[in-house]
Amino acid sequence: MKTLACRDMGGNDDFVAKGMTEDEVLNKMMEHHREMHPEKMSDMSDDDMMKMKGMMRGKIMEE
Ligand SMILES: [Zn+2]
Repeated sequence: MKTLACRDMGGNDDFVAKGMTEDEVLNKMMEHHREMHPEKMSDMSDDDMMKMKGMMRGKIMEE
């Protein structure tokens, strides 16, 4: 199981995205950001989005 905590992304809640693949975890984290942290997403360019996904991949933990 792979996990990624919102806190590790600079969030202040206890959301943890979990999945069997990195893509699954990334998708759940992006969804969480769209719902709970739209302010972080609003002024993001496609380039910023790619960087954010790269950063997320680097922080995914294996459990
Ligand atoms: Zn969050």
